[in-house]
Amino acid sequence: TPRVFSGIQPSGDLHLGNYLGAIQGFVRMQAQDIQTVYCMVDMHAITVWQDPADLRHSTRELAAGFIASGISPEKSILINQSQVPEHAQLAWVFNCVARMGWMGRMTQWKDKAGKNAEKASLGLFAYPALMAADILVYHATHVPVGEDQKQHLELTRDIAAKFNHDYGVDFFPITEPVIEGAATRVMSLRDGSKKMSKSDPSDASRINMTDDADTIAKKIRKAKTDPDALPSEAAGLEDRPEARNLVNIYAALNEQSVDAVLAEVGGQQFGTFKPKLAELAVAKMAPISTEMARLMADTAEIDRILAKGAEQAREITAPILKRTYEIIGMVG
Ligand code: ATP
Ligand code: MG
Repeated sequence: TPRVFSGIQPSGDLHLGNYLGAIQGFVRMQAQDIQTVYCMVDMHAITVWQDPADLRHSTRELAAGFIASGISPEKSILINQSQVPEHAQLAWVFNCVARMGWMGRMTQWKDKAGKNAEKASLGLFAYPALMAADILVYHATHVPVGEDQKQHLELTRDIAAKFNHDYGVDFFPITEPVIEGAATRVMSLRDGSKKMSKSDPSDASRINMTDDADTIAKKIRKAKTDPDALPSEAAGLEDRPEARNLVNIYAALNEQSVDAVLAEVGGQQFGTFKPKLAELAVAKMAPISTEMARLMADTAEIDRILAKGAEQAREITAPILKRTYEIIGMVG
């Protein structure tokens, strides 16, 4: 049976890209008869500096964001990474399987480390090995993610294959990425060439999942666009990154195809389209932000959910780690 794992970093404000590229898919998969494990990856977050109080707050707020979006602790295992120690334990093994050269080719490493790689943390470099461990410590077969994580998932497959080959076993599955929907790569509202990101210093670049209705509407009104009317076919969006982004967002929020959206709005100016988009975004996202705020009023309940999730998770991860150690030749 398929088993799904995915995670999000509690590294700042959750945004529309996280929702459309990841969380919406998490909820969809939960509807099927498959085991789903969703994770706040706090150990990934600390690969760049996190203020301790902010990290604690963001972790709980991310849990609230998951639950408010429709991830049910009854249907899914909801965990915080550091509360399930097998993630880090398997990551060490994978640090010894993965090659330096593989890591050095990761575009996220190159983007986040920038020109000053000497000053980046060792954890930021090793990030994809921990991500492989997150997935494979559950023997997960499917991983719903945004487009930007595709390369890390290929590396996860390489690590699984190398482990299986080196030890002559058929132990870790070769995981499939699930990159679905009309908005697998939501772009910044200020710059159509940059991905919408938690770590972008400009708050106007993204719609946060905690933004209220007025803020959402205002950010869409101010989003960068070009002066032309919308085309009636997707091909007409090719060299118009900002226009394409807004249409993709509309399609994903409405769970429609881009062609279906353009069949309706083709020929309209942004002065007409933006208010429609704002209305749709508010209708979909504002109830989530309200529910997040309600859940954050009682963080003890969130902590209980995470403690229970960790217990459920360890029933899966402990035997897989034990078997891994046996395969390697560790005495225990
Ligand atoms: P950071 O800037 O700290 O890396 P992030 O916004 O990229 O934060 P992550 O926690 O790294 O968020 O990613 C969580 C999930 O959200 C991943 O599946 C990722 O692919 C997806 N995701 C992130 N940004 C976008 C985006 N702009 N469009 C679609 N999916 C996205
Ligand atoms: Mg990211």
